[in-house]
Amino acid sequence: MVPVIALVGRPNVGKSTLFNRLTKTRDALVANLPGLTRDRKYGDATVGDRHFIVIDTGGITGEEEGIDAAMAEQSMQAVDEADAVFFLCDARAGLTAGDEVLAHRLRQSDKPVFYVANKIDGVDPNVAMADFYQLGIPQLYPMTATHGKGVRNLVDDMMQHFPKPEVDEEDEARRGTKIAIIGRPNVGKSTLVNRLLGEERVVVYDHPGTTRDSIYIDYEREGEAYTLIDTAGVRRRKNVKEAVEKFSIVKALKAIDDANVVVLVMDAQEGLVDQDLHLLGQAIDAGRALVIALNKWDGLDADHKEWVKSELERRLQFIDFAEIHFISALHGTGVGHLYESVDSAYQSSMKSLQTNKLTQILEGAVFDHQPPMINGRRIKLRYAHAGGSNPPIIIIHGNQTAKVPSAYRRYLEKVFRRELDLIGTPIRIEFKGSE
Ligand code: GDP
Ligand code: GDP
Repeated sequence: MVPVIALVGRPNVGKSTLFNRLTKTRDALVANLPGLTRDRKYGDATVGDRHFIVIDTGGITGEEEGIDAAMAEQSMQAVDEADAVFFLCDARAGLTAGDEVLAHRLRQSDKPVFYVANKIDGVDPNVAMADFYQLGIPQLYPMTATHGKGVRNLVDDMMQHFPKPEVDEEDEARRGTKIAIIGRPNVGKSTLVNRLLGEERVVVYDHPGTTRDSIYIDYEREGEAYTLIDTAGVRRRKNVKEAVEKFSIVKALKAIDDANVVVLVMDAQEGLVDQDLHLLGQAIDAGRALVIALNKWDGLDADHKEWVKSELERRLQFIDFAEIHFISALHGTGVGHLYESVDSAYQSSMKSLQTNKLTQILEGAVFDHQPPMINGRRIKLRYAHAGGSNPPIIIIHGNQTAKVPSAYRRYLEKVFRRELDLIGTPIRIEFKGSE
């Protein structure tokens, strides 16, 4: 499981700056998809080959009076959801009362806290650091978030607390395709989970695994192994007779990260709302194979159906890779067909891609449509090879590759998708090469 880190600190200490730096994915897939918004508070962070989830507790506003208490309160809610905390202070401002309030609150939690003196640029580090050691902390990390200085060191130390789990290949194979069912409250996730598990052709193994967040259910369908990651917690709810499960974006993010295929459930009767698009953005950001389920398709009249379809087409036109199903979890209509898309999305996302095949496709694409000239010199793309799976990563080598326009990148993506017959998974194209 990937760790979750909360960024905590007074307003203006640099939390958002650090957040943006940590969550800037290698090729910013979401940035390439107009209409998709990224949640400004939650993100997938990648530093080197380390991966975690960050929560920015910024954006908290309040009266000057009592702001410290209000801020501490909201920050602590994020800390509750996190596994560790980055506590940022402003080295230019020095230690303030607000820092002390927060530090005091954090000491009451049992989460590991990493103290950061940000904006260390342009101040005498020794003087600035000495000030914060008054907090009685064991270690302080100097940082310049705007330049990314000190970030690597901090992340490396934090990651020591969360060693990579040993992957038991046999265990993974037994689990088969991991499917996360995500969606905002009330769209029908629980109904769908029950429907998927209640199908005749399904053999559910007992003893579902429980994490703090989701329920993991192993099962078999037509000889294929699957693990359902149930973010709605149906099984738990049934046993404990709990009321409605609390929606948590962190829970959804964890499920997305741990899944091979994400089934995003949306409510056709309500149409697309911002939260749907946030979740969609997170799934794409994480590079997961994706199937979209428009639920509650029953009870819509023909006009309404037409309207929903045109809305989808308009708003999701850039996500041309994900297959969309119109289903009724309540009645079971269309549910079985979801597997066809889940299976092909999974296979596409894991497909092994040969260097000569990729290079051949690249050459064909370049032949049909050359990359543009930059200052009188044409961008040269020479060869391509695979860089990973789920999502498939295609690494292209050449000259001036940093200047490849995003429209051309999209063109290449389209050609690779078509030629490799990749369905239901995003593709990551990375460029390498000299200027
Ligand atoms: P937040 O309110 O904690 O999210 O703070 P922001 O990330 O919005 O940063 C507040 C201001 O501090 C912005 O103008 C940033 O550009 C600036 N800032 C952030 N990090 C640094 C840094 O490392 N050095 C300097 N000099 N300025 C920084
Ligand atoms: P969750 O919060 O996403 O787990 O949503 P639930 O599965 O608890 O469903 C929320 C409500 O929507 C319940 O009243 C369900 O009976 C209803 N519902 C779920 N699926 C459908 C469907 O396909 N059609 C209709 N009409 N209602 C549905």
